[in-house]
Amino acid sequence: MKKFYLLTYGCQMNESDSDIIRQALTQNNYQETYFREEADYFILNTCSIRERAVRRVVGQIHDLQQHRRQKPELKIAVGGCVTQLEGKDLAEKVSGIDLICGTSNFHRLPEFLEELSGTNKPLIRLEDPTISKQNDLPVKNGGHRHSTCFLPIMRGCDNFCAYCVVPYSRGREISYQHAKIIEQINILRDLGQQDITLVGQNVNSYQDGDVNFAGLLRTAAATGIPRIRFITSHPRDMSREIIDVVAERPNLCPRFHLPLQSGSDKILGRMNRHYDRKKYLATARYIRATIPGSFLSTDIIVGFPGETEEDFQQTIELMKEIRFDLSYMFKFSSRPGTKAHKMTDDVSAAEKQRRLEIIIATQNELSKLQNDRFLEKAVEVLVEGPSKKRATEMMGRTEQGLTVIFKGDNSWRGKMIPVRITETYIGTLKGEALIA
Ligand code: SF4
Repeated sequence: MKKFYLLTYGCQMNESDSDIIRQALTQNNYQETYFREEADYFILNTCSIRERAVRRVVGQIHDLQQHRRQKPELKIAVGGCVTQLEGKDLAEKVSGIDLICGTSNFHRLPEFLEELSGTNKPLIRLEDPTISKQNDLPVKNGGHRHSTCFLPIMRGCDNFCAYCVVPYSRGREISYQHAKIIEQINILRDLGQQDITLVGQNVNSYQDGDVNFAGLLRTAAATGIPRIRFITSHPRDMSREIIDVVAERPNLCPRFHLPLQSGSDKILGRMNRHYDRKKYLATARYIRATIPGSFLSTDIIVGFPGETEEDFQQTIELMKEIRFDLSYMFKFSSRPGTKAHKMTDDVSAAEKQRRLEIIIATQNELSKLQNDRFLEKAVEVLVEGPSKKRATEMMGRTEQGLTVIFKGDNSWRGKMIPVRITETYIGTLKGEALIA
């Protein structure tokens, strides 16, 4: 049996795509290996959101060339957003790639890998022209490595935020059919899946006929899957109706990822985000007021072109006011082909670094404060397995997605266990199981 090693960069959409790769290959007599030296096929699922990510991929391919000296038959396949953007040019820029695959035809990888045995030239299989159809939701009945199963409900994005390459790499937004998604959730439930994450670049704008995202959440909750999450939301499209549905249904997890990007209206306008700080704050307050145990995470970019100290201070002010539970924080890096690439990158590298360090320190304080809310409280933990450090300790997650470590045994894997939280840290909680 041929073995493949799969390396995934980037967001949950890429994780979801990698599940499709894994499923397609394992169902066609390929076996996944976690050791590179065993692999017959090395598959890189790439991300192009940051400039560094592209360089990292190029570095990986160079490293693999060394590895190929020991194993000449090794085949290297590269897929995902970098290939979608660079296209066949990638094969010319980086030698040694055997297959270039787009973001929407991963389910055909077994067929493409077969084709490789008959040629020495790089194969280019960038886009499946039939994929833009709304009913092409790839069927998932296995393949996911994470405790949550990422289930795509849409593809692409129409928003064209000034700094982002996704609309160019993943194309225009399409929502998959509501009936197909529910059928898929039922399949996963019957397979014993307890936690699923509905994924899309902007899930709040989901629309299939007269079913909007709140409608989809209602029917998804009715399937009885114990935990349903979703990512990513857009502050412009996050409605009170969506928040109310999450508040009403106990199996819709109270976790919201709502990328703020900047607290300055001037910068939000330049970023083409279509909301202002007032609208964002009103939504965040409504989430906090309607769902007391809610977890609110965000993305922040510092040093966007034109960002002054005053703009930056407005971001910090808003972070403190909202008390984000978690932030993913980045320095602006210009991506060719985007609107921001034409702007003057006028914040120096040193200043970007200084601002980044300040918001990281701010967020660490906020995360600790937010986690302290759970001290001495009992929470339901879905157990994922032994912790990385000790076999006698188990690791699981709360409905907010927080990691909890506690003493227990492996027979609890996959079960919901009540745990009393006794210690809190920036990224983890520790506790004691409330069962013998
Ligand atoms: S909403 Fe904006 S940041 Fe998100 S994927 Fe679309 S263009 Fe990119």
